[in-house]
Amino acid sequence: MPLLPPALDKLATLLSRLPGVGKRSATRYAFHILGQPEEFARSLASALEELVTHVRFCVDCHALTEHEQCDICRDLSRDRTLVCVVETASDLVAVEQTGAFCGLYHVLHGVLAPLKGIGPGQLRLANLEARLAAVGAREVILATSTDVEGEATALYLAKRLAPLPLTVSRIATGVPMGGELEYLDQNTLSRALSGRRAFEG
Ligand SMILES: [Zn+2]
Repeated sequence: MPLLPPALDKLATLLSRLPGVGKRSATRYAFHILGQPEEFARSLASALEELVTHVRFCVDCHALTEHEQCDICRDLSRDRTLVCVVETASDLVAVEQTGAFCGLYHVLHGVLAPLKGIGPGQLRLANLEARLAAVGAREVILATSTDVEGEATALYLAKRLAPLPLTVSRIATGVPMGGELEYLDQNTLSRALSGRRAFEG
C-alpha cells in the first residue's frame, strides 16, 4: 500500500524533478502546499497554466516574452548596434540587472555539447546572421559562460561570425573560469562586460 495518497505522491515526484530538489524535499514541499489554504494550491496551478499558455520565445532574440516580440527588442531607445549573446533567459536577466548594457540580446537556450548531442542545430541560431544585419549590429558580445562548453560555443560563434562586417568580442575580465553568468554578482558581471575584448580565436 502506498504511504502517500497518489495525488500527493504525484506532486512530490514532479517537484523532485526541479534542480537541486531531492525526493525528500519534494515530499516536504508537497505537504507544505497541502497545508496552505486551498487558494494557494489553486493559484499555483493557475500560474503554471498561464506560464505554459502565455510565455513564449521572442521571434527575434528568443528571450522569454508574452508577446511576439519581447520588450527589449521593441524598445527603440536600446542601442541596436550592440548585440549580447547569452546562453539562457536567466543569463539575460543577470546582464540586464547590471544596468551596464543597453543593447539587444540573442538567447541561445543552450551551449554546444557534442557529447550530449547538442550541436549548432539544437541552439537558437538560425536567424542570427539575418538579425544582426537587420538591426545593423556593429558589435556582438559573446557572453556565454567561461566553462568548457561556454568557451567552445564562443569559439564556434566567433568563427561563424568572422566573415561579417562587425566586431566580435568576448567577456573575460572578472569572470572566473567555469563561471556561470547568472551566479555572478552584479559588479563582477558589469566589469566583465565593460572589460570585454575583441575575440582572438
Ligand atoms: Zn526579443
